[in-house]
Amino acid sequence: MLVDATLLIQDIQLLCFAIIFGVLALQRWSDATRRWLWYSFLANATGAIFDLLANYLPSWISHGINLEMIPLSYAFTTVAIVYFEGRYKKAVWISGAILLATLPLFLAWRNDPAQVRSFALADLAIALEVLVAAVILCTGTERSTRAPRLLMGGFLFVFAMVELARVGVAFLLHADPDAFSRKLEVTSAVAYIVNTSVLPLAFIWMMNARLEANLIQQSILDPLTQVLNRRGLEQALERELARYTRYKYSLTVAMVDLDHFKRLNDTHGHATGDAVLVGVAALLKQTLRETDVLGRVGGEEFVLLLPHTNAEESYAILERLRMAVEQDGGTVPLATIHTTASFGATSTHGRESITGAELLQEADVALYTAKKSGRNQVRFISPSSEDAGPLHLSSNPAKS
Ligand code: GH3
Ligand code: MG
Ligand code: MG
Repeated sequence: MLVDATLLIQDIQLLCFAIIFGVLALQRWSDATRRWLWYSFLANATGAIFDLLANYLPSWISHGINLEMIPLSYAFTTVAIVYFEGRYKKAVWISGAILLATLPLFLAWRNDPAQVRSFALADLAIALEVLVAAVILCTGTERSTRAPRLLMGGFLFVFAMVELARVGVAFLLHADPDAFSRKLEVTSAVAYIVNTSVLPLAFIWMMNARLEANLIQQSILDPLTQVLNRRGLEQALERELARYTRYKYSLTVAMVDLDHFKRLNDTHGHATGDAVLVGVAALLKQTLRETDVLGRVGGEEFVLLLPHTNAEESYAILERLRMAVEQDGGTVPLATIHTTASFGATSTHGRESITGAELLQEADVALYTAKKSGRNQVRFISPSSEDAGPLHLSSNPAKS
């Protein structure tokens, strides 16, 4: 009685979800994940309706459709997850094959005494469909969706285990799972209800988590070059400075400015200028280490953060970058343009307290010197490690 009442409430809840996810899908029909989620709840709702109409329909229709609909709805959920994750496309075929294999048996076993087997087979199909979905969710690596993915995957896994227990009772003990044990009956009803309630919530959470991560990512990226923008760079600088304060590994901050860029724009056009900026950003990025940070802070100005690097190493890295720009930085489709860049750098080495703004200011002073001294060169400001006295400029701190 209790179980029947809860299952009725569950059917009503499923109909509500079908409406909510229908609106969600219609709002953005091009989003396959939303569409397949809706199909999933539609399948569930259809099963519930055929269940209610069982007395008015031939038994092979009501029984066959009703039993096929729940595994079908999980198969559609799997398709939605596959679209969301963009992986494991073959899982869709596994889901389809499970359904195709079961339907003839649902029909063949629709009457007593084989009906228990028919229901148990539906449980098996549900368990397999659910396991496919759980595996896809739990093996994902996307960090932003980790919590809802693992939560949903975990719930699906527990649900699959309960369903398999029912299958065991029916096929191995040859008993009706609902009459065999009250505990099993209640556990499977609760698992079903919890699962169908958690699934849509976790899915919405997952979509939201990805959206949020994408928005945060976009807010710190420069749309033209896809490197960090000023906001992203400032955040990274704060992070690296905090690391410096804690571990005292030197951090080098360098400012890079392309030489005579206005002239390049005037001669070749703004679009070519843009292509050069994209090319130079890509070149800098590929020449840097994984742990280095690159940001575009102005029109043709970039900032580099080189953590864990002393002055000599930084100079070698920056000189390598300067030569790379000189050699390849101006290569854009249809035109070879000779671009060069000037570099101004400073380091946290041996300093007690220093702010990001001060470091950027010092790098800018060094850059100004590089420009004044003829461009296409690296200039370094390095404070003497013994005293915090006057900063001295040099082209190579290793030699000074
Ligand atoms: P210098 O060697 O002294 O740095 O000379 P410069 O011409 O590079 O310096 P200046 O700062 O006078 O000019 C920078 C130019 O960069 C001006 C502007 O036309 C160009 N610029 C700024 N932002 C963009 C952009 O997004 N795309 C393109 N194509 N050009 C840009
Ligand atoms: Mg400039
Ligand atoms: Mg410039």
